[in-house]
Amino acid sequence: DRDGPRIRHVDYAAPLDVPVRARATLERDLRTGIDEGQFRVVYQPIVALDGVRLDAGGVPAMVEALVRWEHPGRGPVPPADFIPVAESTGLIVPLGRWILEQTCRQAVTWHHAHGAAAPRMSVNVSARQLQEADFAADVDRVLTATGLAPQRLTVEITETATLHPSCVQSVHALRALGVRISLDDFGTGHSSLSTLQTCPVDEIKLDRAFTGTCTAPDDRTVAAAVIQMARALRIAAVAEGIETEAQAQRLRELGYPHGQGYHFARPQPPERIDALLATGHLV
Ligand code: C2E
Ligand code: CA
Ligand code: CA
Ligand code: CA
Repeated sequence: DRDGPRIRHVDYAAPLDVPVRARATLERDLRTGIDEGQFRVVYQPIVALDGVRLDAGGVPAMVEALVRWEHPGRGPVPPADFIPVAESTGLIVPLGRWILEQTCRQAVTWHHAHGAAAPRMSVNVSARQLQEADFAADVDRVLTATGLAPQRLTVEITETATLHPSCVQSVHALRALGVRISLDDFGTGHSSLSTLQTCPVDEIKLDRAFTGTCTAPDDRTVAAAVIQMARALRIAAVAEGIETEAQAQRLRELGYPHGQGYHFARPQPPERIDALLATGHLV
């Protein structure tokens, strides 16, 4: 009878087949999304911790650009779901270039409107982008085309198991342009400390895993150790994922100059950053 083998085939094949097909569909949708402009960028304020609360008046020192994808059928797709696929397919290269152009243009608009009060721009860049031999040259072209001063741009990199030598080369080339380098998710990687030795950085971002535990009674927390190290190395430090006033207070006491998190502001569409810069209040 011919049904048996066919059913067995379906039983075995389905669990392996479905994720591969879903991934292929996501890849196809990503390509269409890039072509059809389905992406936008939101901006999360990074604030001076010794300053006033944002909602009590104040302007962010920096903003972090975070990409958003609104798929016509799927609805909003979180970066955690599509960035890994964009990285493994190489689609992060054209998408990342669009994000960079968009954010540099936005930074110039804010700088023209608000001068020194405009926030500096922090942009996430994947290792896959840094591996491109001409990445720094691309950034240079975007800076020239938009008129953004390199000092107003920070590139946030996340260390991978081993930071590929071509990535380190790009980091050197970016710094030679005057672009700042930030080491993201600090403390969660395989080799955060050795990365600091092989790769020059201007800033570290304390991962929110350690921000969450920073109010533990034990004084020798990771958050405390990291800020001491950053100071010794003269590296700027940002604590990310601050959700409570108790955390903000503790990080302020530890000496973190800057912080970021839902406690201050969620990622915002650019119009709301405009309003914040104009009025000092998030509306
Ligand atoms: P990330 O660079 O570590 O970004 C911080 C993430 O934490 C963002 O999630 C942000 O919305 C979220 N966040 C901010 N404050 C808080 C808080 O107080 N509590 C909690 N629980 N979360 C907070 P998002 O936007 O979903 O991005 C996730 C990751 O996707 C990013 O992590 C980054 O690795 C990647 N990503 C996002 N945008 C881009 C981009 O434009 N390019 C690249 N290459 N990667 C991006
Ligand atoms: Ca980041
Ligand atoms: Ca991070
Ligand atoms: Ca990350």
